[in-house]
Amino acid sequence: MNIVFLGSPGAGKGTQAIKLSDDKGFTHISTGDIFRAELKNNTELGKLAKQFIDNGELVPDDVVVDMVDAKIKSLGDIKGCILDGFPRTLNQGKAMEGKIDVALVIYIHVDKQEIIDRLSIRRVCGKCGNIQPNSENGLCNTCGGTLAQRDDDKPEVILNRLTVYETQTMPLIDYYKDKFYQIDGAREIDEVYKDILSVLEKFNAGN
Ligand code: AMP
Repeated sequence: MNIVFLGSPGAGKGTQAIKLSDDKGFTHISTGDIFRAELKNNTELGKLAKQFIDNGELVPDDVVVDMVDAKIKSLGDIKGCILDGFPRTLNQGKAMEGKIDVALVIYIHVDKQEIIDRLSIRRVCGKCGNIQPNSENGLCNTCGGTLAQRDDDKPEVILNRLTVYETQTMPLIDYYKDKFYQIDGAREIDEVYKDILSVLEKFNAGN
């Protein structure tokens, strides 16, 4: 059973996807994380993606689709995937038809102003990868590592990412309307997670 997590940058998709994967044994596939790992390793794919990521643009569809297709083929026998940040355009959604069955689309909705506020203070721990709001001492509240701001969370890039989201990703809401569940993401992490679990229960009960 494969699940797509849809939502604006900063809506909490990654946090919830990791929680659900750890809890229920799904395989978490975050295209953003894959690109950041490629970038860190200075691969050709990473260098190509960087030009787009740094400007808040999307990496071209064919590159992302090939990457996800290869990733899925490499996974072998798994319970199912949580696709986090993919698909992000109608073309990507259509290109994956027949390659992966999407059972359920969970859309985490958060108002634009709250997204801007969240992304502006979002920091990532360089040591353990934890994502959290900036702290007073600039250190991670989980492991004490140093927090850093993602380059694409800088104010000038945030606005472009949101425009790209509205124009290119939001059409997927209609595309997936038959398997679509909306969740209010403007709440505590655990509250949002509870709703995700109840969507899964309802879905499993109805199938
Ligand atoms: P994320 O961490 O999901 O916000 O992704 C960070 C950046 O990676 C995005 O702003 C895009 O530049 C790129 N990216 C991630 N996923 C995709 C995708 N499905 N299609 C195109 N670009 C993507």
